[in-house]
Amino acid sequence: MRFYDLIIKKRDGQKLIQKEIDFMIKGYCQDSIPDYQMSAMLMAIYFQGMDINEIKYLTMAMVHSGKIIDLGSIPGIKVDKHSTGGVGDTTTLALVPMVAAAGVPVAKMSGRGLGHTGGTIDKLESITGFKTELSLNKFINIVKKIGASIISSSPDLDLADKKMYALRDVTGTIESIPLIVGSIMSKKLAAGTDAIVLDVTTGSGAFMKKYKDALKLGKIMVDIGLELEKETVAVVSNMDEPLGFAIGNSLEVKEAIEVLKNRGPKDLRDLCLELGAYMLKLGGAVKNYEEGRNRLEKILKEGAALRKFKEIIRAQGGNSEIVDNPELLPMAKHCTKVKAVTSGYIQKIDSRRVGESAMLLGAGREEKDSEIDLSVGIVLKKKVGSRVNSKDDLAEVYYNDPEKLNEAKGKIFSSFVIEKKKPKKIPLILATISKDGVKEFI
Ligand code: URA
Ligand code: CA
Repeated sequence: MRFYDLIIKKRDGQKLIQKEIDFMIKGYCQDSIPDYQMSAMLMAIYFQGMDINEIKYLTMAMVHSGKIIDLGSIPGIKVDKHSTGGVGDTTTLALVPMVAAAGVPVAKMSGRGLGHTGGTIDKLESITGFKTELSLNKFINIVKKIGASIISSSPDLDLADKKMYALRDVTGTIESIPLIVGSIMSKKLAAGTDAIVLDVTTGSGAFMKKYKDALKLGKIMVDIGLELEKETVAVVSNMDEPLGFAIGNSLEVKEAIEVLKNRGPKDLRDLCLELGAYMLKLGGAVKNYEEGRNRLEKILKEGAALRKFKEIIRAQGGNSEIVDNPELLPMAKHCTKVKAVTSGYIQKIDSRRVGESAMLLGAGREEKDSEIDLSVGIVLKKKVGSRVNSKDDLAEVYYNDPEKLNEAKGKIFSSFVIEKKKPKKIPLILATISKDGVKEFI
C-alpha cells in the first residue's frame, strides 16, 4: 500500500477502508508517513469528509495507537466528560467534585491550554503543591479512595491524537468534524471510561461557529459512542461569549470555587448542573436528568462538592487552604480597567478575542512549551444582554508585565459589541443529544 494513493483517493472523494485507515495511523505514528503527506491527507479529509464507518475506523485506529487504560478495578460506572473547547471554561474544576460527591467515580485526564483556549491542568497548577502527573496506580487509588482525581494525560496514551492534533493546529485542519470526532472519542476510549458526556460548544469562541455544525458534530459523536458500546450524551452549548466572568488560570480556579460554594456566575453553574445531571444519569446514580439536577443542587447547597474538592486537592499534594482563602492563589501585581465609550446593550463578546487577550497577558502559550503566568487574566464586568453606560467598566485586566498590556486592552475593548437595542437572549443550552434522540431548545 502506498500512502500517496490513499491521499489521491480521499482527495477525489472516495471512501477509505479499514485497512487503509489502520495503515495511515500506524504509519504516521511510526514516522514512516511524513508530516507533509499527513498534512495533505488531513486537508483532503477536511474538504471531503468521512462517512460514519470511516470515522469509526479512524477512532479505533487512534485508540490503539497507544496504551489503553483499564479502570476495571474501580467499582461503579466511570463517566468521563469532554468539551470541544471554550474560553473561560472552568467547568471541569467544579463539575468533577460535584459528580464525585454524588457517588459517581470520575477518573479525569485533562490537557493544557494551547492557543486562545485554556486547559484544566494549567489551572490546577496554580494550586501550590498540586501534582498533575501521577503514576497510573496512584491515580486509580485516589479515585477508589475519594471518588475522583484529575491528572494530565499520559504521553503514551493515544499517540496518534497527540501527533495529529499538533499537525492540525498548524495546517488549518482543526475544524473538521471527522477529525474532531476521532480526536475526542479516541482519547475518551483509551482513557478507559464506561460512559461519556460531551459539551459541544458553538459560537465565536468555538471550533464550530455555526449551531447546525455543532449539532451535526454532537450527533456523530453520540452515534460513534453508541456503536462502540459506550453510552454517550452530548450537550450543545453557547460559546458566543466567554463562560462565567473569569478568564485566566488562578482566576478561573477562584471562579470554580465560587460555584462549589453555591454561588458563582449563572452560566457556569448552569452548565455544570446540566453536564453533571447527565453524568449522574449515565453513572447510574439517578433515574433521570431531573433527579440528577436536583441531587447536584442539594450537594452544592450542603457544601459536599466543596469538601470533595478539598479532598481531591489534598490527595494530589496541594494546599487545600486555597478553598477557604482564595487569596492564597497566585495574584497579579496590577489591575487596570477597560471601559465603555458608548452606552447601550452588550450584543456580543467575542470569546476568541478575549482568549487571545488573556494570552497576550501571559495566561496562555504560543508554543507547546512556553512558560505561562498563572496569575494574570481578565474578569468581565458585563455579559451579553447587560446594559452599559459610557465610562462603565467592561472588564478588569490583571497583569504583571506591562509590555503587551495596551495591545491586550485594545483587543478586549474590541471584543465587546455595544448597540442601542436589547439583544435577543440565546439560551446557554441549545440542544441535547442522546440515544433517545435530539432535543432542541431554540
Ligand atoms: N478537542 C479535542 O480534544 N480535539 C479536537 O479535535 C478538538 C477539540
Ligand atoms: Ca470563566
